[in-house]
Amino acid sequence: MRLIEVFRSIQGEGPAMGRPALFIRLSGCNLRCEGCDTDLKPSLDLSVRELLERAEGEERRRVIITGGEPTLQMDELGDLIGGLHRLGLEIHIESNGTNIIPQETLERIHCAVISPKRGSNCNLPFWACKSNVHLKFVLGKPDWCWRDEELTELISTLDRERVWIMAYGAEQGMKNAIDAWNLALRLGVNYSDRLHIRLRQR
Ligand code: SF4
Repeated sequence: MRLIEVFRSIQGEGPAMGRPALFIRLSGCNLRCEGCDTDLKPSLDLSVRELLERAEGEERRRVIITGGEPTLQMDELGDLIGGLHRLGLEIHIESNGTNIIPQETLERIHCAVISPKRGSNCNLPFWACKSNVHLKFVLGKPDWCWRDEELTELISTLDRERVWIMAYGAEQGMKNAIDAWNLALRLGVNYSDRLHIRLRQR
């Protein structure tokens, strides 16, 4: 598989915020979001078997597959998730939601965090009805981020327990975080911080 990096860290955002995990960051993305803070170029090439060997020794038994956009390597991704599931690991995935994950694979995932980008072809109705899917919306000014009034309308149709609002920004002070906090409070949904950004960790 084409990867950016494999590393152990603590999840800084979304429903698993604060939890330690092995991160498998796959390279490449089908979107080009202005200001994307992820280096999308591959620097590693590891087989599914090599990744499973790496994950098997993990003490905390949790793996977060992220990117880039992991579903661009769907065939091998399905094999990887199948193997992690057989090892008994808790599997999380982060995706922009533009590609469907087959049901058999999705059922093996503990938590899928789908972050629909404004103007993209994310299939929101497909994801919104899955009980292991959380939806994370980024509030901000760039074109691909959501506006306050758009989220107010959109979220009225969704299960609020599985909706998260997070601020755009990769600067340490996260000066826009208060807007995301206030909107989450007003709409009765979850607020996500970006702890790794605040603490200058990855
Ligand atoms: S979908 Fe995510 S990884 Fe892809 S360009 Fe946008 S912010 Fe970057």
